[in-house]
Amino acid sequence: MTMTNGTRRDVAAVFDSARTIEGGGFEVYRPFPSAALEWLDPFLLLDEMAPTYHAPGRAIGAPAHPHRGFETVTYVMRGEVEHRDSAGNHGVIGAGDVQWMTAGDGIVHSEMPSARMQTEGGVGHGIQLWVNLPRELRRTAPRYQAVTSEQLPRVSGAGWSAEIIAGEFLGTPGPARTHTPIGVARVAVQPGSTLTLSVPEQHTAAVYAIDGSGVLGGGTQIEAHQLAVYERSVGDVIVDVPASSPASFDAFVLTGAPIGEPIARYGPFVMNTEAEIAEAIADFDAGRMGAIPATGTT
Ligand code: MN
Repeated sequence: MTMTNGTRRDVAAVFDSARTIEGGGFEVYRPFPSAALEWLDPFLLLDEMAPTYHAPGRAIGAPAHPHRGFETVTYVMRGEVEHRDSAGNHGVIGAGDVQWMTAGDGIVHSEMPSARMQTEGGVGHGIQLWVNLPRELRRTAPRYQAVTSEQLPRVSGAGWSAEIIAGEFLGTPGPARTHTPIGVARVAVQPGSTLTLSVPEQHTAAVYAIDGSGVLGGGTQIEAHQLAVYERSVGDVIVDVPASSPASFDAFVLTGAPIGEPIARYGPFVMNTEAEIAEAIADFDAGRMGAIPATGTT
């Protein structure tokens, strides 16, 4: 069990999200990449798919597209995402469930509202995180991990709770397997309460706010859709929520060992060099990342 070390990490910077359009036309809050924060080693992208009502017959998602060189992590807060990929994986990610997909050498997948949502309509809300891979693992075999809400351990204390997805927080390991040391947790802190999380020394640490507001590092307040990035140093991530706050602070905590390699990125591909990006585009264009098996339905 890792113990808190009694020191507090300071926040280095806070980033607002840009609102942008992804996939088939759904809105996302994107704290990075941006001009201000190109990436956050070992994380490449964070999107919050904005809470969106999909009318019956009008649900939109991300139809078939490729990835190579990294992992995509999807956490659904509301609604259902139906996933199909060229490795033959198929699954519905429901509210509270996580999908951790290693694109590695290359995969083609679709991320769509479930058949039920497409018929009945409903609200979708979730996050997607892109996790980088080191050079020697970029083209590893694709891997698919489906983790249900019931499989996620929860730890709670006075006025706070934490759901551990990957890595270890509060002495509790999360179920998602990672290629490099990564921590992901969803936390909720009530007004008047404090949550303290130890983070490995020199690992990247960040907090992304979904709802409410919290005071981080002893004095930096963040609100929904903002990302606080901590100094890469030694010390605990401490989240205080003032007693006067009207709502619980709902956030994701991200930690990871920096990989420290140069990256080249183009849309759905992230590699180390531009030549490797050109190779990825050529491989996709030639069909070498495969195709989603036909299902007999649309
Ligand atoms: Mn994708």
